[in-house]
Amino acid sequence: QWPSWGALAGSLLLTLMASNYLWLVTNRARRIGALAAERAREITERERAEMALRERESWFRALVQHSSDVVTVSGADGGIEWVSPSVERVLGHDPDLLQGASLLAFVHPADVAAAAEAMLTAVAGPGRHEPIALRVMHVAGSWRWLEVTTTNLLDDPVVRGLVHNARDITERRELEEELTRQAFSDSLTGLPNRALFQDRLRHALAAARRHEQEVAVIFLDLDGFKVINDSLGHHAGDALLVAVAARLLRTVRPSDTVARFGGDEFAVLAVGENGLTTAAVMAERLLQALAEPVSVEGRDVFIMASAGVALSDGVLAGPADLLRRADIALYRAKGAGKGRVTVFDGSMEAAVAGRLNLETDLRRALERNEFHLVYQPEVNVSAGTVAGVEALLRWQHPERGAVSPVEFVPLAEETGIIVSLGAWVLREACRQVAEWRRLGHVADGFTLSVNLSGRQLIQPDLVEVVSAVLAETEVPPAMLRLEITETVLMEDGPASTRTLERLKTLGVELAIDDFGTGYSSLAYLRRFPVDTVKVDRSFIAAVEDDPRVCAIVQTVTHLAHALGMRVTAEGIETQQQVRFVSEAGCDRGQGYYYYRPLPAGEVAVLLSAGRRQAA
Ligand code: C2E
Ligand code: CA
Ligand code: CA
Repeated sequence: QWPSWGALAGSLLLTLMASNYLWLVTNRARRIGALAAERAREITERERAEMALRERESWFRALVQHSSDVVTVSGADGGIEWVSPSVERVLGHDPDLLQGASLLAFVHPADVAAAAEAMLTAVAGPGRHEPIALRVMHVAGSWRWLEVTTTNLLDDPVVRGLVHNARDITERRELEEELTRQAFSDSLTGLPNRALFQDRLRHALAAARRHEQEVAVIFLDLDGFKVINDSLGHHAGDALLVAVAARLLRTVRPSDTVARFGGDEFAVLAVGENGLTTAAVMAERLLQALAEPVSVEGRDVFIMASAGVALSDGVLAGPADLLRRADIALYRAKGAGKGRVTVFDGSMEAAVAGRLNLETDLRRALERNEFHLVYQPEVNVSAGTVAGVEALLRWQHPERGAVSPVEFVPLAEETGIIVSLGAWVLREACRQVAEWRRLGHVADGFTLSVNLSGRQLIQPDLVEVVSAVLAETEVPPAMLRLEITETVLMEDGPASTRTLERLKTLGVELAIDDFGTGYSSLAYLRRFPVDTVKVDRSFIAAVEDDPRVCAIVQTVTHLAHALGMRVTAEGIETQQQVRFVSEAGCDRGQGYYYYRPLPAGEVAVLLSAGRRQAA
């Protein structure tokens, strides 16, 4: 039997419905499963995200905690809301105790204004601001330099504050300061150097113009420092410079600047109202401060200095002018004989220009025969007879007239002209003595003294020149006495010793000129093969009123004799001095009391008269 259509339809419908239902059910179940899976997935993701967040948070916290930076969150008023624990390490403060305190309360008074301004700027604009450097109080009371960068997150819903990121830059800062200090100071004495001095001078001049004040520059240069340095050693030299720096500092006002320009050159910058007299008085005071003996490595060292003073003259003088003028004045002071103060005046600048002409003229003078020699007799102190002469150079300038050797010999040395000029002096003097010998004016034991400059001494062919001249003129070597100043001997040391020894081998005599001006001891000078010591005329000039000087001259004479040297006293002007040098045992005397330097003709008369008398 076939099912009825109805039943068929019905079962079909049922099947359909069932399948539909099934579909529905399974579909739903599937959807529910998917949902659940989705839910589960959602949960683990969130957890993971939360975990990640927590990790990240602790990472950040660790970062903040262990960072050397200090992070502070403050309100717009600077009240601390939160500060990272690193504050304890950097500034020693307990972070909990800082809550509610004002940031500005910890800032150095000198930096408060800048800090407050930076805070105001930060409040005014969202985002990150330029860092500023300021000093912040450490709990121990010291100050640390912090570089603070502020970010305005006042509008950020999470932070709602100013975030200050502070980094400790104290060491960097100190290093920078140290480097700056080194660049502008002299490492030995710690005084400002030339660069800083010039900078201060520029500022001082600008300020002085506004306040109608005057600026004085004083240049100081130690006399004979090189000699001390060479004889006592560089250690002692350095110690002396440090002591001098301290003396100078003690003598000036706190507002003045004392600088070291290198070597034994110092400079003082002073600002005041009373002009030149005050500056000159101050320079005198500085020299006086140095006059007291300085204790260096356990011994007393006497040092003198020369000073040059220049004063600003309103608008006209710039820093460079002032420095140059002080330098010119110092040069003058040195030239005028050490231990002096010279104040610059306009004529000196003209003299410097004149010096240039002088140099040109000096170069031409030899060819033009403008030089001649005069001879100052040396007298045997006990017998009163002429025992020799010293040849002294004279320059008859066509326009200026007689120019003193004190003026042109240093110039001739600087320019090297002295080498050919010195050779001329030697030849001319020997030629003259040869003539006197031919005429029979010259007795045995007669000496011709000729001055040698330091420049000549280092000339490699000096010995050859001397021996050639002696051979040419037939003057016996023993009759020639070459004078070298004490300072030159001290300065040139070992190199000149060899030259001196070679000269000795020729048979000529050697004398130390101007003895006593170079602070050396006879014991030191013994290393040079010298026969005669010429005691400087500054000692002879002082014997009448200074018993200490008397003692010095007596001791020197005594010692020189013990060392097998003879002694000549220079610059004898009075009867009393003659008596003194005679009692002190000096062998020879030279000076205006006996004879001034004389032209060759007069010396010839003198010598022949002496010969007749002796006969
Ligand atoms: P010095 O070698 O010490 O010469 C002695 C100087 O003292 C001379 O000065 C002489 O005139 C001066 N004098 C002599 N007796 C007296 C006195 O009783 N009182 C005073 N106040 N002075 C006296 P001068 O001739 O002006 O020479 C100065 C310096 O120039 C010399 O000093 C010497 O260092 C240098 N000099 C002169 N001629 C030459 C030379 O041919 N070559 C070199 N290298 N230097 C020379
Ligand atoms: Ca001399
Ligand atoms: Ca002399």
